[in-house]
Amino acid sequence: MQKLIMIKYGELTTKKGNRDHFINSLLNNIHNKLNGLDYKIQKDRARMYITSNEIDKIIEILKNIFGVHGIVIAYKINTNNIDDIKASALDIIKEKTFNTFKVVTNRALKEYPMDSMEISRVVGGYILSQLKNISVDVHNPDETLHIDLRSEGCFIYTNEVKGIGGYPVGIQGKGLLMLSGGIDSPVAGYLAMKRGISIECIYFESPPHTSLEAKNKVISLARKLCQYTNKVKIHVVPFTKIQETIYKVNASSYMITIMRRMMYRIAVEVAKKNNLKVLINGESIGQVASQTLESMSVINDVTNMPVIRPVACLDKLEIIDIAKKIDTYDISILPFEDCCTIFLPKHPVIKPILEKCIDIENRFNFEELIEEAVNNIEVISVTEDIYSDYKELL
Ligand code: ATP
Ligand code: MG
Repeated sequence: MQKLIMIKYGELTTKKGNRDHFINSLLNNIHNKLNGLDYKIQKDRARMYITSNEIDKIIEILKNIFGVHGIVIAYKINTNNIDDIKASALDIIKEKTFNTFKVVTNRALKEYPMDSMEISRVVGGYILSQLKNISVDVHNPDETLHIDLRSEGCFIYTNEVKGIGGYPVGIQGKGLLMLSGGIDSPVAGYLAMKRGISIECIYFESPPHTSLEAKNKVISLARKLCQYTNKVKIHVVPFTKIQETIYKVNASSYMITIMRRMMYRIAVEVAKKNNLKVLINGESIGQVASQTLESMSVINDVTNMPVIRPVACLDKLEIIDIAKKIDTYDISILPFEDCCTIFLPKHPVIKPILEKCIDIENRFNFEELIEEAVNNIEVISVTEDIYSDYKELL
């Protein structure tokens, strides 16, 4: 018997026309993440199979790869002889502690002389005859023994570890994530990646009003997002001058609205320059004054590029749950200010009017300021492993 990892694609297989593209992207993403390990991988249209001496380590990595729906430690026997299947099935299940079990057979090999029900019955009967104090329970068994009969051999396995699901990152093209140091935007980035969008990030910094710690926080968050992809680029935009100018022209209650319109304009420029198709951000309906429907519509008015807001309809507690799961929460709650909070007006407008925004924006030459900011962007590239970032610098 050969021990191997079997990967199930799930959702991928429903997209028939694109299947090869999906599988190749997934394979590529898996190769990237397993880089440096000793393994062999084979793919077919329904599964991938990995052989390695580092199975446990590889399973931990696979758990974070989008597009992987199920992970199974399977045993392959190179024959479809029913007596061999019976003997191997017994060897596998006798290592488990259980009272009740069932056998489920999947027969891709249609010409096999027995049908699936019959195989399950024969193998189940054999196990019953060989082990004491066990019984069959087809509804709620402690253990399920799966037998997959395929042309390349027979695969036998018990537990399936649930994969993270989603589509392979990159399959849907690229987007630009507006990444602040808060709780919401990293979660938005994670959810966008889950739908197959690969991301670059944009962060607006306003030194000296925002600290180096705030920037490092964003870098750490981007690094956490690398759990799900290979590398993340951060476009760091110098935003101080724009922010101070808006403050000087007395935007008062419109301060945040105008600031966010500027952020959107810059993000669109950066997205276009880098061939990124959509903007992604952590706006959540009703969470703050700038996230009322009226505010969102006035802010969004500066562009017709699609803006994806993955957490728009989630409660804060739901967002926090995801942030904890992806391990960004503890970084996000570190106390360093991001640039939005510094110039916060006492009473930010809740229902801004578009004409008023345009009127305020006419008080200064924002196009020039935007151009200057875009020309002075610093690009930082991070990977999951902090040391490999340094290696690149050497
Ligand atoms: P978060 O928790 O993600 O910071 P928030 O609740 O603090 O969100 P806002 O500050 O209004 O909400 O920002 C809404 C969204 O705008 C953020 O989720 C993020 O996508 C984007 N954003 C805000 N500030 C910045 C910034 N300094 N750089 C990049 N994007 C930002
Ligand atoms: Mg924020």
